Amino acid sequence: MLEAGSLVRLTRVWVSLLVAVATAAAGPWVGWWPSIFGVLAALQVATLDRRVVGSARPERYVAASFLSTAIFATAGAASSGGPQSPMLVLVALPAILMANRFRRPVVVAGLTATLVIMLLGSVAVDPASFADDPSLVLISCALVIGVVVFTLSLSDTEMALREDARVDHLTGLNNRASLAPRFEELRSNARATGCSIALVVYDLDCFKSVNDDLGHDRGDAVLRDTAGLLRRHLRAADLVYRLGGEEFCVVLPGLGVTQAAEIAQRQRESIEEARPGGVAITISGGVAAATGCEVEWDPLFQSADAALLLAKREGRNRIVVAGGEDASALAAAA
Ligand code: GH3
Ligand code: MG
Ligand code: MG
Repeated sequence: MLEAGSLVRLTRVWVSLLVAVATAAAGPWVGWWPSIFGVLAALQVATLDRRVVGSARPERYVAASFLSTAIFATAGAASSGGPQSPMLVLVALPAILMANRFRRPVVVAGLTATLVIMLLGSVAVDPASFADDPSLVLISCALVIGVVVFTLSLSDTEMALREDARVDHLTGLNNRASLAPRFEELRSNARATGCSIALVVYDLDCFKSVNDDLGHDRGDAVLRDTAGLLRRHLRAADLVYRLGGEEFCVVLPGLGVTQAAEIAQRQRESIEEARPGGVAITISGGVAAATGCEVEWDPLFQSADAALLLAKREGRNRIVVAGGEDASALAAAA
């Protein structure tokens, strides 16, 4: 299931409330029972996001809302003139307003179900009336298809933009902007489970001289290859970010400082051996870790950054852990 942005959620609530008010106001003409069914259908959609937020199984709520809205809307249409009822359009409400919450195959299935409900429901409620004038049913079906297809194309654009905003285009790594929301998730998880999170902050050594001596393009090639090398030696849950310039950050969920320092040492060695971009270059790193309720971005990053500064001061091409110990000394003591 896809996450809805806050603007999309707000829009869904307002549109559904507008439909609820319009349906209630239509009571004198369509009848009170159809009107009540219509309001219930619209309120199902309006309250969806409130029920989904914080739920462990959000797709259950969305699917249940989808079904109950369709049932209320069908009941509204059936009790007010069947194929000629303007309430018929409400059957389309979940398909239209929830299409952005589901992946494409689910939307296609939901759309098909909606069309079948609209067509079969109309025929079943009043076959003679449907045969006499099916225009409202057919136009409603076409409208539903059109709006859902349009919503899907908007969702695709939104997903592409979100992906684009998350990625550093030179290296293909996650960028700095995407770190905060991801770290917040990891922090909540660490607080709930009491697990650790380790952070390694890296900075290439004397990188400016690569640009100065070999050109900016070669510098870019070094950054790209370094990113590829940092991705190695990691588990699927580990994350690599380009913080900016020649600075990188690796987030290691579940690891303490000793294990993180071992990984950082391996990464440092692999960069020294691989000569990224064909250049003999080294990297320095600072490692810090925190556990459970102590996991907070600012102190963790500051500890790792202070350790990186020490690594630079002590001669570069080394990993230092928070507190000032060299990672190679830590490994020897372990
Ligand atoms: P130190 O060992 O102390 O870290 O020295 P350094 O030369 O690596 O650090 P400094 O901060 O002096 O230089 C960083 C350089 O990185 C300066 C900047 O031009 C270069 N840089 C930043 N972003 C990019 C980029 O996207 N591509 C290239 N080619 N160079 C970049
Ligand atoms: Mg730097
Ligand atoms: Mg540097």
